[in-house]
Amino acid sequence: MIVIGGGLHGCSAALHLARRGLSVILLEKDHVGRHASGVNAGGVRRLGRALPEIPLSTASAKIWHEIEDLVEDDCGFEASNQIKIAETEEGLAQLRQRASDVSALGFAHEQIVDQESLREFLPAVAPHCQGGMIVEGDGHANPPRTVQAFRRKGESLGVRFREGTSVGHVERKAGVWFIETNDGSFEAGVIVNCAGAWGGRIAEMIGEPVPIEVRAPMLMITARMPAFVAPVVGVQGRKLSFKQFANGTVLIGGGYEGTANPETNETKLDRTGLAENARNAMEVFPIMRKASVLRCWAGIEGMMPDGIPVMGPSQEEGAFHAFGFCAHGFQLGPVSGKILSDFIVDGGTNLPMSAFRIERFSEIRQSAS
Ligand SMILES: Cc1cc2nc3c(=O)[nH]c(=O)nc-3n(C[C@H](O)[C@H](O)[C@H](O)COP(=O)(O)OP(=O)(O)OC[C@H]3O[C@@H](n4cnc5c(N)ncnc54)[C@H](O)[C@@H]3O)c2cc1C
Repeated sequence: MIVIGGGLHGCSAALHLARRGLSVILLEKDHVGRHASGVNAGGVRRLGRALPEIPLSTASAKIWHEIEDLVEDDCGFEASNQIKIAETEEGLAQLRQRASDVSALGFAHEQIVDQESLREFLPAVAPHCQGGMIVEGDGHANPPRTVQAFRRKGESLGVRFREGTSVGHVERKAGVWFIETNDGSFEAGVIVNCAGAWGGRIAEMIGEPVPIEVRAPMLMITARMPAFVAPVVGVQGRKLSFKQFANGTVLIGGGYEGTANPETNETKLDRTGLAENARNAMEVFPIMRKASVLRCWAGIEGMMPDGIPVMGPSQEEGAFHAFGFCAHGFQLGPVSGKILSDFIVDGGTNLPMSAFRIERFSEIRQSAS
């Protein structure tokens, strides 16, 4: 069995497959954790998920809380409240509507808080903020440590990692996948496409192209500040996500993007976007006027047009996908490998997966023609 891609999803797939007793080789063109999985914000959030993702995200949250049982490392996971702030009455009404939509699906994790409670959870929030939505028991983890923990555990179960090995061609003949790389040829009965922002290329090699866009979400981190915010924070209607670590540094993100070149792995920062991101932080948390930004960076991520990943079996026999996680795939990492191993070993999973089928894109193309 060959897994293509050594991000969190590839490492999780390899680990879960090895746990089921399968022999796995993982091929990674650069090094394990080099891309989105190693440089993201580490947010482990159920709050605000696309509705089809909620059951998956809920299952993954459960694994995060017991992550040490799976990989023998706590991955730096810290449980905390996650809060989405509403700055206006209108924003709060939107959050109320959202909580009611989620509750109609049978999930009760998103709760509304009024202005007074918001201030209890976030004493440093700007006075104009009206309330918000809270999820208890979300949190954050350390991205590079997480990927390496999944890798180590996979290796201990026999997974072979081949770094610097870029897949350039795949072809199925007589029930066997032939995989050509810059570092030799491989054969396997099953291939698993976990190639992140490059997942569309592998899908195209398999014969099912998808409309994936390569993007470069940006982050910045500040110098140490006095402790002022414990929950992980987002804001309704603004691009801002925000967390303070135990060492006092504050990580700021929320969706501003630079540009990425997937051929060279280079990213370029957009300074105007970063400045706007910093302004958002200062407007919602006035204490941030005292912050100094130490470092900014971007990672390369795959975005699908409908904002949710491709996960599940290919239309070609013996191939499976988990890619295009649209800037929120870190939280889903632990469960996605389990889902893939259930599909591969048992022929299906008990989670609702129809929204993630790769066929959704060929169906759109067919109905348009
Ligand atoms: C700045 C930033 C902040 C983010 N913040 C969060 C967050 O707070 N919470 C959250 O849940 N998500 C977040 N995300 C999203 C999350 O990081 C990604 O969705 C997730 O890491 C994707 O994992 P992956 O394994 O699919 O992809 P990747 O980590 O990109 O791994 C894919 C791997 O496949 C390899 N590969 C590609 N093509 C080939 C080939 N032909 N042959 C061999 N190997 C190949 C690549 O080199 C790469 O290492 C963020 C992303 C970014 C960029």
